[in-house]
Amino acid sequence: MKLFVCVNQVPDTETKVKVGQDGKTIDRSEINLILNPYDEFAVEAALQLKDKFGGEVTYVSAGNDFHKEVIRKALAMGGDKGIHIKTDNTGDSYSVASMLAAALKDAGADIIFFGKQSIDYDDSAVGTMVAEMLGLPSASVVVKLNVDEGAKKVVCEREIEGGKETVELTLPCVISAQKGLNEPRYPSLKGIMAAKSKPIQEVAPPAAQSLTEVTAMRKPAPKQPGKILGTDKSAVPELIRLLHEEAKIF
Ligand SMILES: Cc1cc2nc3c(=O)[nH]c(=O)nc-3n(C[C@H](O)[C@H](O)[C@H](O)COP(=O)(O)OP(=O)(O)OC[C@H]3O[C@@H](n4cnc5c(N)ncnc54)[C@H](O)[C@@H]3O)c2cc1C
Repeated sequence: MKLFVCVNQVPDTETKVKVGQDGKTIDRSEINLILNPYDEFAVEAALQLKDKFGGEVTYVSAGNDFHKEVIRKALAMGGDKGIHIKTDNTGDSYSVASMLAAALKDAGADIIFFGKQSIDYDDSAVGTMVAEMLGLPSASVVVKLNVDEGAKKVVCEREIEGGKETVELTLPCVISAQKGLNEPRYPSLKGIMAAKSKPIQEVAPPAAQSLTEVTAMRKPAPKQPGKILGTDKSAVPELIRLLHEEAKIF
């Protein structure tokens, strides 16, 4: 099977994210960048399909040189090669999706995998946009995947509010992976060494346009300190009043 996984780099989950001086972007100067955690489920899904059916796994990422590092991190888990769409200006989700769709248009993919969302901008949009741009069926938030290569069919279980939904798609298709789809493997030392010599093709970005503009970005206001109203039942009436009048819970 010809499998592609789109991978993004995001700030480490331990990082204290700062807003840049322009008040519109994340300050990336002192942050540790990692492979987007949801993309690890996508990588694992593609590697398991390669183990089962054979074929090749290619990683695609659009962005600056850190994106090349993220392709290497995925290659250390397994897979064959990478495509780095090199640009210092990725723009919004639509622009990123346009770049990825252009790179994948004639690639002959059977399945293009994405993470459910990037944990930086949290749009959950790129995978579905790429599917639409390429005219492919897609399933998002996928927690179970069963591929019938002969029948060219994929049966997926997706998470929906309060339940699960089973959908059937025909190949080629786009799948966005949710936590629970699998248990991503750790890169082995051998895998890390092998990744250094796996090919990463650098391609120029196509002309792509952002349809949105971030006008302001700010951190949430610091939490107010908690209030202790008392330590026995005499505090209950005041607690009820505050829940009703201030917290407006009921
Ligand atoms: C106006 C604007 C300008 C921006 N400018 C920059 C910039 O100059 N530099 C910068 O680094 N970021 C920039 N960003 C942020 C960056 O473009 C976002 O990563 C992008 O909007 C994707 O949205 P998301 O991260 O929420 O992706 P989601 O839709 O949440 O991501 C879903 C999945 O899509 C895939 N994916 C997402 N992004 C990429 C990618 N770049 N390559 C491969 N696969 C991907 C992954 O599989 C991911 O799990 C900008 C955002 C906006 C709105």
